Amino acid sequence: MATPLDEKIEPIYQEVLARNPGEIEFHQAVREVLESLGPVLVKNPEFAEHKIIERICEPERQIIFRVPWVDTHGVVQINRGFRVEFNSALGPYKGGLRFHPSVYLGIIKFLGFEQIFKNSLTGLPIGGGKGGSDFDPKGKTDGEIMRFCQSFMTELYRHIGEHTDVPAGDIGVGGREIGFMFGTYKRITNRWEAGVLTGKGLNWGGSLARTEATGYGAVYFVDEMLKARKDNFDGKICSVSGSGNVSIYTIEKIQQLGGKVVTCSDSNGYIYDEKGIDLKLVQQLKEIERRRIKDYVNYRKDAKYVKGGNIWEIPCQVAMPSATENEINGKDARILVENGCIAVGEGANMPTTPEGISIFQGAKIAYGPGKAANAGGVATSALEMQQNACRDSWDFASTDQKLQRIMQNIHKDCFEMADKYGDPGNYVLGANIAGFIKVARAMLAMGVV
Ligand code: GLU
Repeated sequence: MATPLDEKIEPIYQEVLARNPGEIEFHQAVREVLESLGPVLVKNPEFAEHKIIERICEPERQIIFRVPWVDTHGVVQINRGFRVEFNSALGPYKGGLRFHPSVYLGIIKFLGFEQIFKNSLTGLPIGGGKGGSDFDPKGKTDGEIMRFCQSFMTELYRHIGEHTDVPAGDIGVGGREIGFMFGTYKRITNRWEAGVLTGKGLNWGGSLARTEATGYGAVYFVDEMLKARKDNFDGKICSVSGSGNVSIYTIEKIQQLGGKVVTCSDSNGYIYDEKGIDLKLVQQLKEIERRRIKDYVNYRKDAKYVKGGNIWEIPCQVAMPSATENEINGKDARILVENGCIAVGEGANMPTTPEGISIFQGAKIAYGPGKAANAGGVATSALEMQQNACRDSWDFASTDQKLQRIMQNIHKDCFEMADKYGDPGNYVLGANIAGFIKVARAMLAMGVV
């Protein structure tokens, strides 16, 4: 059962449904935020008077474009590109690009909407945006990836810039793709404009610790939630889903803090390694050889590969969903709680369904929603922009320290806001309200724009 919306907010949500038909992930993301905002309107009637919520739900600009390219067989391929520039009250639009066959406008809008509040929570001057394409990078050659990225940027370049909109990576977009896109941007504009993209290579404007930041940050956030309950990672059995960038560095940081990660996965199946995931092996398979995770068991005889199974059936104390949206449903959440899970930290965006969230909250476990828990990635992108703006590069330790402090602050803000609004320990409420208020105040100050 969904939480009912405040009577002032229900018509706003109905309007969002009517104006954005069929975009179910966007509806879900909007509803989850709106459920928290009733008491905010009571304390701040000026937000309603100036239609702040209605304005936040409408992207400032949405760009949809054709991306034609030629594959290795000489066949012309056509994909669709998107950039949704959602909100620029706090800074230039900021958010990643996702290349995945599931991408359509509804996915990009849900991600862009989440990004507004996530970026606000970082405390850094970044607005919210997101983009991507329904292009499937799986099985493509380097040449195909390059030609696709070049075509994508041939349109996108006119919409972005270091003070306008700063894309980065997301699912299917990593250092290789950012490199191809930066090269094309530089060629078309004749500008070496480092701050236009983040997630760049280390010898051409990238930031140390950016690669690790989303995973490390999510673990720092969970560590704070555990500390608030006088607990820590030491000796905890942990389950991580996915095997991409977020998962890899989540696993690494959990292991450094003394936890034992026993799972990882890809879209075909999951690995259960009771002795603890061999991270070097995962990195070799995924980052270097770009292979599927099932090959893991060829090198670790005690590990099991379960094709198409449910990773959340493996008992764990800490779960960190780090693959994609809606990967934990109500049934999975119930299994996790029954198996003794005490904390969930979301490395992915919106990985838990509304039913799953209410089960975690009903069981009073520590549940850190993605917009708070995975904000370390984009926060470190903002640190990359700071280094680019002063043509500097910081060492790993100082950047990692800043990331850690940012995650501690996000935790503190969410925790205190949940307390203030009468629901201690509710990080969903805390994150939504803390993220929203900063954006709302900035929008009020700037008038009707
Ligand atoms: N795609 C990441 C996110 O979901 C990072 C975005 C960025 O660094 O701009 O927050």
